[in-house]
Amino acid sequence: MSADVVLHRDGPWGRRRDLLSRCQVLGLVAVAMSVLPGCVGIFASTKGASLSWGTHSHGALLGAVALPVEGDGYQVHRDWRARGRSFAIEELVGGLTRAFARVEQLAPGGLAYVGDLSVRRGGDSSMHRSHESGRDVDIFYYAVDGEEKPLSDLPAMIRFADDGRATAWSAGRAGRRMREALPDAHLDLRRTWALVASLLSDPMVEVQWIFIHQPIAELLLQEAEREKADPGLVARAREILHQPTDASPHDDHMHVRVFCPVRSRAFGCVDKGPRRWWKKRWKYMSPSS
Ligand SMILES: [Zn+2]
Repeated sequence: MSADVVLHRDGPWGRRRDLLSRCQVLGLVAVAMSVLPGCVGIFASTKGASLSWGTHSHGALLGAVALPVEGDGYQVHRDWRARGRSFAIEELVGGLTRAFARVEQLAPGGLAYVGDLSVRRGGDSSMHRSHESGRDVDIFYYAVDGEEKPLSDLPAMIRFADDGRATAWSAGRAGRRMREALPDAHLDLRRTWALVASLLSDPMVEVQWIFIHQPIAELLLQEAEREKADPGLVARAREILHQPTDASPHDDHMHVRVFCPVRSRAFGCVDKGPRRWWKKRWKYMSPSS
């Protein structure tokens, strides 16, 4: 009998084949049982664990944790709440709530609006090419008016020009047509950089990418240097802030993806792209490794 179990799956991007060791499959089943509501028995000690399985674009989510609709420094935008896409692995939910709270502590008065994470069990990504395994989240950019006052009660995402000026409402992933006048606003570089810095500094979560319009990334890196941020942090941000070539410009939101946590990796979570996940080792690895 083969030592491996072969799973075949057809997806919108072609036929895929994944190999899982028997040990991984048994482990996955064990954890799946442990996270089913009401499940008791020998696996009960892992109840509550959340796991990401597969890749960001073809995966699943077990034991999902919902991001509370509001908390210190953030809220899930009202148009996104009804979409049932506020679920993620607990590591990402924890990292987000800590980072939003940190921004609020550093620069009180702003509010981060959150869009989609994943659906409760992952998969089903008709509105996204990723967000399938509880490791992705969309976040509006912070915005301020001409007097540097944070904009509140935003009806939608705002598109920003290369110099940070607000240029238009985005139809938004929520799909609502916008009739409201666009306020005189620009990107809030201070809070947006503070959010990036907080996410990258959190020892409990490892960010793989922040997808972002490249000119906006440059503005944030300039802000970091103006604020005399730690050069090591700025160097990491330079690697992680990235506009993918196969996606529309992220000029209306940033998309954060975290690496598979160790626990999820052991059960079949697969990272695509550069593997820079160990912070202590990061500086010893080349960006292309
Ligand atoms: Zn996204």
